[in-house]
Amino acid sequence: ALSGNRNWAPMWREPQPKPHYDVIIVGGGGHGLSTAYYLAKEFGITNVAVIEKGYLGGGNVGRNTTIIRSNYMLEGNEPFYELSMKLWEGLEQDFNYNAMVSQRGIVNLFHTDGQRDAYARRGNAMMMHGVAAELLDREQVRSMMPYLNFNHARFPILGGLLQKRGGTARHDAVAWGYGRGADERGVDLIQHCEVTGIRRDELGQVTGVETTKGFIGCNKLALATAGHTSVTGKMAGLDLPIETHVLQAFVSEGIKPVIDNVITYGAGHFYISQSDKGGLVFGADIDYYSSYAQRGNLATVEHTIEEGVSLIPGLSRVRVLRAWGGAMDMSMDGSPIIDRTPIDNLYLNCGWCYGGFKATPASGFCFAHLIAKNEAHPVARLLRLDRFERGFAVDEGGKGPQPN
Ligand code: FAD
Repeated sequence: ALSGNRNWAPMWREPQPKPHYDVIIVGGGGHGLSTAYYLAKEFGITNVAVIEKGYLGGGNVGRNTTIIRSNYMLEGNEPFYELSMKLWEGLEQDFNYNAMVSQRGIVNLFHTDGQRDAYARRGNAMMMHGVAAELLDREQVRSMMPYLNFNHARFPILGGLLQKRGGTARHDAVAWGYGRGADERGVDLIQHCEVTGIRRDELGQVTGVETTKGFIGCNKLALATAGHTSVTGKMAGLDLPIETHVLQAFVSEGIKPVIDNVITYGAGHFYISQSDKGGLVFGADIDYYSSYAQRGNLATVEHTIEEGVSLIPGLSRVRVLRAWGGAMDMSMDGSPIIDRTPIDNLYLNCGWCYGGFKATPASGFCFAHLIAKNEAHPVARLLRLDRFERGFAVDEGGKGPQPN
């Protein structure tokens, strides 16, 4: 910085694409980059390119509200998200980069007796998978978060489900750490290169991708394009169970430390935490129409702020600094897909809905396992593409107790 930022070494190379790779990953978001990193590190597969139409980390990985947690209930989800949490816990040492992983605890508030039962059940399911959870009563929540609305709330707070190991991480740094780690191991990170088509031979096998930098061949093609999965899937003739919607997020002006956990509001759908810079980071529902736009509708802004103020009345005194949107790959049961496709050498990673940031480490780890070995990692074995036609949905509403 003393040299006017002139002498900093680049974080990764800017290679020209080679004519052919063993593996091409489309999408330089969190999942594409972590997949490349684990392919190289865990499986020794380094003749790999990540092809990104914009810049690395410019998609959802750099636009989310950074919540990480493993408080899921179903067999198809909980072991997968717990693997992710364990990887988060060692991630900064592993890729030697400060991702500001902060296990500040997440509290999912409940507001009815029925909701308390559902959260108790979820907590029990977590504990049966060896994951700690605590059910807090109203007074325990009040002592932790006295600024919540305990007085005249339309939906009084009755308690909360606490996962102490949940928290937040610095989203851009996650992309940068994985990207740098993959580059150091020989992976080519090719930015500003859009995949415009998928070329297949007469047997239907993928031979490579058409891009804005020309044709690039590969033995295996892996799609990790999140909100654009239906578009890239269609390039290979796949009609996927994914709908794309905008999800908006907001950050306030910086204020003194007040919120030291992640909180989710169970009477509506609102979640909030405070960044290390002091901004309150929050969000709510998706915009309910399909769109690939990365900015949303004002009605959702109003809805989000209304929910926030009903939970934290003092929020009405804080000014919003920025808002943004991301294109979400909503699957039909709310759970992700990490699977092979009907095309032998085409692999699919999508369906992350509101919650793919927390999955970034396990998603990359399991997708790399699938690509390298042609078989599902044990914790991802239920996240199959054909589960919808077979009637084996992993129907957790994309959520856990809350969607993010
Ligand atoms: P992305 O970063 O979107 O990566 C996909 C990449 O593919 C993009 O960079 C895109 O440019 C590229 N691409 C697409 N098409 C092509 C093409 N044809 N050629 C080349 N490249 C292409 N999750 C949580 O767990 N916790 C949260 O708190 C949370 N909050 C969220 C809040 C918001 C506002 C949003 C938008 C998302 C949130 N999420 C959260 C979800 C999470 O961010 C996503 O599920 C996750 O980031 C998706 O995976 P990704 O990082 O690989 O996606």
